[in-house]
Amino acid sequence: MAVAEALPQPGGVPALDTEPLLVARDIHRHFEGMHAVDGVSIDVLPGRITGLIGPNGAGKSTFLAVLAGTLPASEGTIVFDGEDITTLPTYRRARKGLMRTFQLPSEFGQLTVLENLLVAAPGNRGDTLVGALLGKRYWRRDEEERVAQARALLDRFNMRAKESDFAGSLSGGQKRLVEIMRALMLQPRLLLLDEPMSGVHPSIIDEIASYCEALRDEGLTIVMVEHELHMIERMCDPVIVMAQGRVIGHGSMIELRKQREIVDAYLVG
Ligand code: ADP
Ligand code: MG
Repeated sequence: MAVAEALPQPGGVPALDTEPLLVARDIHRHFEGMHAVDGVSIDVLPGRITGLIGPNGAGKSTFLAVLAGTLPASEGTIVFDGEDITTLPTYRRARKGLMRTFQLPSEFGQLTVLENLLVAAPGNRGDTLVGALLGKRYWRRDEEERVAQARALLDRFNMRAKESDFAGSLSGGQKRLVEIMRALMLQPRLLLLDEPMSGVHPSIIDEIASYCEALRDEGLTIVMVEHELHMIERMCDPVIVMAQGRVIGHGSMIELRKQREIVDAYLVG
């Protein structure tokens, strides 16, 4: 390989011959005859933010749920990092590094921000019988490590001052950040974000975009459903357009804007 090819590409974008991190083939998800996802195939390239757009009801959230394992696929195959994960439960996909956030805020309102992050982390030794019998000193080190990890994330997302606040008292944007941080506690390789900017004050949208871009530049792969098209244009390449359970377009936002049928179906902005 030539030296130039081996060098990282600008903005963390890998060379084009890179293997996809996730391959979904002919995914279907039906709800009692309703074809919410109707034969979707995508390749998710590592180190990029792939955008997923389309009108309400297109099947975007259902597709993310199938990728994450929250909903089983009715048909189709999902390969993550070379391994068929189609029938694996969500927690096993999470352990392999595939995490999602939800379209509707899903923070635990009665827990503090710090506790919200700690509940996400994998079970520590204090949770097991042996751990409990061996006593607090044995498992406190795990706890301390998780707290340190959570605080590092809170610093990074400029939320450290809020760590003792109840998550339910936060603004829409801060709740989104808590969800993203909670997913990051499990150190994913692929993060699926369902409308991370919805319900967020415009002044925070830019901040969330910058955090996502920084994560991407460090090597995290992201698939993001979003309606904020100017943010999709800024952050995402490629962009996949869904309508009525199918993929109707695929490419950069600039390319998609040139395609008449896609503009008619969805792109008004
Ligand atoms: P999007 O996220 O693109 O707005 P969804 O994936 O939420 O679309 O929904 C796709 C279609 O599937 C919609 O018609 C929706 O009503 C339907 N749907 C989603 N979830 C369910 C469910 N649990 N039961 C029945 N129908 C559902
Ligand atoms: Mg949705």
